[in-house]
Amino acid sequence: MISRRLFLATGAALAAVPAKGRTNNSRGADARALHQRLLCLDTHLDTAMVFARPGWDIMQRHNFESDFSQVDYPRMLEGGLDGGFFAIYTPQGPLTPDGMMAARDYALVRAAAIREMVAKNATHFELAFVPADAARIADRKKRVVFQSIENSYPLANDVTLLRSFYALGVRMAGPVHFANNQLGDSATDPNGKTWNGLSPMGHDFVALANELGIILDASHSSDDVFDQMVAQSKVPIILSHSGCRAVHDHPRNIDDDRLRKLAASGGVIQINSYNSYLVTVPPNAERDKAQSEIFASLRGLYSLGPADATKAVAIAAARMRSLNAKYPEPRATFDDYMAHMLHALKLVGPDHVGVGADWDGGGGVVGMEDCASNWKITARLLQEGYREDDLQKIWSGNALRLMQTVQDARKPAAPVPVGGGGE
Ligand SMILES: [Zn+2]
Repeated sequence: MISRRLFLATGAALAAVPAKGRTNNSRGADARALHQRLLCLDTHLDTAMVFARPGWDIMQRHNFESDFSQVDYPRMLEGGLDGGFFAIYTPQGPLTPDGMMAARDYALVRAAAIREMVAKNATHFELAFVPADAARIADRKKRVVFQSIENSYPLANDVTLLRSFYALGVRMAGPVHFANNQLGDSATDPNGKTWNGLSPMGHDFVALANELGIILDASHSSDDVFDQMVAQSKVPIILSHSGCRAVHDHPRNIDDDRLRKLAASGGVIQINSYNSYLVTVPPNAERDKAQSEIFASLRGLYSLGPADATKAVAIAAARMRSLNAKYPEPRATFDDYMAHMLHALKLVGPDHVGVGADWDGGGGVVGMEDCASNWKITARLLQEGYREDDLQKIWSGNALRLMQTVQDARKPAAPVPVGGGGE
């Protein structure tokens, strides 16, 4: 079998640089054809939150405007998205024993939802655990499902729970989300620092992730946590969905010095399309209140039957459209998104940049509303002069190289004692 990777290595490709006299349309068609040949992975997909929604089927085509979803099989095909890291995301809750146990259970249910989705659609999706799985699965025309953890709050006060998540297939994990937790400080906690970086448990988390071969993800981490993870980790780390502070000044984005440091250590930034990290969105208490009410209306969603759940989502989506009409927010455009990607590429080069658009987690810009539009990134990078081998690195090669480095460095499992009087 000629693998897609081998095919790419031959350099057989459509001309990456548009030929003279070609129309825009033919250039667009060339870009789409080239894009479809690439192995394309997104390192932060929040779609697992949608998997458990009654009546929602990943094999059906959906629409963000009517059900808030941005990734499904038909749109992955259209956008040339071969798969990615599906996040086990847990919202930050109270740092109490009850809160932590609830978070642990929530994360395990989320992990189960990913496995159930793959089991139910085994002819179209497959779980992936090592870098080589990606091309093997994509060559079989299936979508690639790596698993990651966004917010390691569910580890409660027992960092060794990370071993259980590794056993479930998790190969990337970030310590925090919107707020500080038992592992360290977030980039966006309204109350500022708790630990001045990682907590003692957070340092244990970094060491154990290295030992297991789990990629450390510093998206959502404070600058101090980023610095301490880079310093402590024996292998490079990732920013699975982040932007550039030099383009838009937001604590969720990374400054140029740190971006250079990330690249110098072999790490990778995957560019995020989350609106308020790309453009300034002024606070609007009335809008926020109305939006919270809309999302609160979906709280009981998972216990509804399929028809009622679908109806509840459609009603919430209609309310959201009215809200957007009443209180229009500044919306980032595709050019804003590309400004972050092009800045990162200029600063650290095509070996250290990729795509983590935050689909189903708040991502999406005007002109790239869901994963069906992923090919536009390729088209724009071709216009900027990037070649097919650069694009292959950006779309998966860099993240997979990092994953390989992390897995190669993992501590070999202790030999299992043979014989003896075990019980
Ligand atoms: Zn996130």
